[in-house]
Amino acid sequence: MNIKKGDKVIILAGKDQGKTGKVLQIFTDRNRVSVEGLNLSIKHMRPRRQGEKGQRIEFPAAMNISNVMLVCPKCSKPTRIGHQTNEGSKGKKKFRVCKKCDQVVD
Ligand SMILES: [Zn+2]
Repeated sequence: MNIKKGDKVIILAGKDQGKTGKVLQIFTDRNRVSVEGLNLSIKHMRPRRQGEKGQRIEFPAAMNISNVMLVCPKCSKPTRIGHQTNEGSKGKKKFRVCKKCDQVVD
């Protein structure tokens, strides 16, 4: 998984294609992500008590991780991610690296 919570991503497919947003949640087991304000679905809530109105709640539906691409925070381009391992004082640390500008993303 190359994408983390809080990353800025661009949507590659679907009705919000080309839009960018922040990753809210990652469902690793299902290979899906949800992105703030994008791929919205509407959930209808029935009134729980008498006299209450039913509600429509918009929420970002999870989409397949292959439909999003990371937007590099350094060069602001949609990019693929490479990995780099550095030997530090606390052992090996893995970094994500932008394939466009070669900058460390993490
Ligand atoms: Zn970059």
